[in-house]
Amino acid sequence: MNATTDSEIGAMTTKRSVERSALVSSRQPLLHAATLLVGHPQIRNRGTIGGSMAHADPAAEYPAVAIASDAEMQVLGPHGERTVKAEDFFVTYLTTALEPAEILIEVSIPMLAEGSGWAFTELSRRHGDFAMAGTAITLSVDAAGSCTDVRIVLFGVGPTATRMREAEQIVNGESVGEELFARAGTAVADEITDPLADVHATADYRRHLADVLTRRGLAEAVARATVSP
Ligand SMILES: Cc1cc2nc3c(=O)[nH]c(=O)nc-3n(C[C@H](O)[C@H](O)[C@H](O)COP(=O)(O)OP(=O)(O)OC[C@H]3O[C@@H](n4cnc5c(N)ncnc54)[C@H](O)[C@@H]3O)c2cc1C
Repeated sequence: MNATTDSEIGAMTTKRSVERSALVSSRQPLLHAATLLVGHPQIRNRGTIGGSMAHADPAAEYPAVAIASDAEMQVLGPHGERTVKAEDFFVTYLTTALEPAEILIEVSIPMLAEGSGWAFTELSRRHGDFAMAGTAITLSVDAAGSCTDVRIVLFGVGPTATRMREAEQIVNGESVGEELFARAGTAVADEITDPLADVHATADYRRHLADVLTRRGLAEAVARATVSP
């Protein structure tokens, strides 16, 4: 991790290193919280941030953090380096924007702005399992008590982690409160087109989780935000 630019993490960095980084826990608490939910210590000792991003499991925590934090992926191939925004990097199930001869060399995750609120919520059957559904949320609260710069990312429910733009629009500029969070949760549930269904959870259950976890996540994120002037 690079303390000067604060956010560049080499692809080979293990999750254990991310978990133990004082810089990450203080300046990128969303990434830190998500890391603690990845598998178990044995998994985090061996698994890398680059491996998780490149693998692009729909239920993995890191793609959701990357999109919520507006991260950038540094990619290297035969024709040189290029930068891909996280939102464009994750394409669909286990598929990224990496070309066959390219590798991911670095992930640049901006540190959270001072006073930002954040929340990482997920539900899995047992601690360490892949999530049946989850959200990564960042936002700010202005002096009037309104939400700004809201990013709501849902994962584990569709082919890839995805921003829930309709719900973001509902929350942006509005006064915080349970009623607003409930409307956003409903919007997220409505925005999901074709929820995953498998042995772990039905499509309806995942849609329900998306609603509940969005409400909870927004409440948590607002509670953590420091009101900005
Ligand atoms: C029991 C168990 C539980 C787990 N639970 C979770 C969980 O809850 N959440 C979660 O997110 N993950 C979970 N994982 C996955 C784990 O987090 C791994 O980190 C992840 O699969 C990637 O592993 P890796 O870094 O060793 O990459 P590899 O397994 O080595 O690579 C994964 C894929 O990405 C490619 N790849 C790797 N690095 C790069 C790179 N730099 N550039 C281009 N391609 C690359 C590889 O070729 C391969 O196709 C779990 C795994 C296990 C075994």
